[in-house]
Amino acid sequence: MYTSFQKHLSGIIDEIREAGLYKNERVIVSPQGAEITLSTGQKVLNFCANNYLGLSADKSLVEAATKALNDHGYGMSSVRFICGTSDLHKELEKKIAGFFGTEDTILYAACFDANGGVFEPLLGEEDAIISDALNHASIIDGVRLCKAQRFRYANADMEDLEAQLKSAMNCRFRLIVSDGVFSMDGNVAPLDRIVALAEKYDALVMVDESHSAGVVGNTGRGVTELYNLKGRVEIITGTLGKAFGGAIGGFTTGRKEIIEMLRQRSRPYLFSNSIPPLVAAAGIRMIEMMTETNTLQDKLHRNSEYFIEGMKKLGFDIKPTRSAICAVMLYDAKLSQEFAARLLGEGIYVIGFYFPVVPKGEARIRVQLSAAHETEHLDRAIAAFEKTGRELGVLKN
Ligand SMILES: *Cc1c(COP(=O)(O)O)cnc(C)c1O
Repeated sequence: MYTSFQKHLSGIIDEIREAGLYKNERVIVSPQGAEITLSTGQKVLNFCANNYLGLSADKSLVEAATKALNDHGYGMSSVRFICGTSDLHKELEKKIAGFFGTEDTILYAACFDANGGVFEPLLGEEDAIISDALNHASIIDGVRLCKAQRFRYANADMEDLEAQLKSAMNCRFRLIVSDGVFSMDGNVAPLDRIVALAEKYDALVMVDESHSAGVVGNTGRGVTELYNLKGRVEIITGTLGKAFGGAIGGFTTGRKEIIEMLRQRSRPYLFSNSIPPLVAAAGIRMIEMMTETNTLQDKLHRNSEYFIEGMKKLGFDIKPTRSAICAVMLYDAKLSQEFAARLLGEGIYVIGFYFPVVPKGEARIRVQLSAAHETEHLDRAIAAFEKTGRELGVLKN
């Protein structure tokens, strides 16, 4: 039996390879940080991690995790409602709600699960979900698992959102859902206008802060801070796997009754293990750090501005961004791959993206800034972009 299935799979894998879409994984042998060591021995500056606040190898997070490892052991061996809830889980949930100015929080193994488990328990076939066309895969999958009617609007297009809201007016409840920051362009969802439309058309709002929590807003509270809407959206989802320490874990935070219902009915919560106590302990420490000082958030904002200004001055075509994601537009797929390969040769690790990850003819290199970067790192990256840009004829003068 396996022989024919094997042939089938090999055929598809060959097609993926021929289309140039085969994903290879680079092996890192050091902790995650501004500078990392690859398995080849090469040391490179890392500009493609979601390590926005530089916390992935932070000493005080490692200390908090180590202490919890000794106090609480390694794993919980249970889902939350049987015997998988520790004091650390409860404390982290409270801390996350405090951070976002929400009423309550529920933890998941990942934000993929938070998004996978948020729609189905809350909405039924008489309801509507109105989703941004560029929302994350986990939101798309979560919507698929729910019986609600589906409406889609063009990325951040408020005219289209209004049209979709009008089409959904005969539904019982309407939920608008958007990423806070869209990961390929780095653009921020126009949450002020989304909330205004929600009020006009009597809809609920959900925002996924995975790329914006810790990053967007003066104190890193995300897009609800940027638009002065703290506590005004019904549902926020997010990850502990990006700015918040980068290990694993996700959450949904928002209105009390919504979280209560998820604890009763959300399938990835009810049927999947709880995060290890050491991850919860590091999460608690992380929120404490972000509350005690604004040093990391400030440094990230300074670094992002510095890099983007430097690149613009050289004449690179940069997508408008208000996040720590900087899309350097090259348009041509092959050029984006060649450019990234040469940058790696210069010791700068970035990824070139092209269709189908981004629209056809919009190939780019995505640079992700971090509070772990020092000015010297940013200067080295800008210099490598300049050198490569001239060699490949992207920079003309
Ligand atoms: C990364 C990401 C997720 C998934 O987060 P995990 O915790 O890694 O599963 C979900 N939504 C968005 C918008 C993301 O960027």
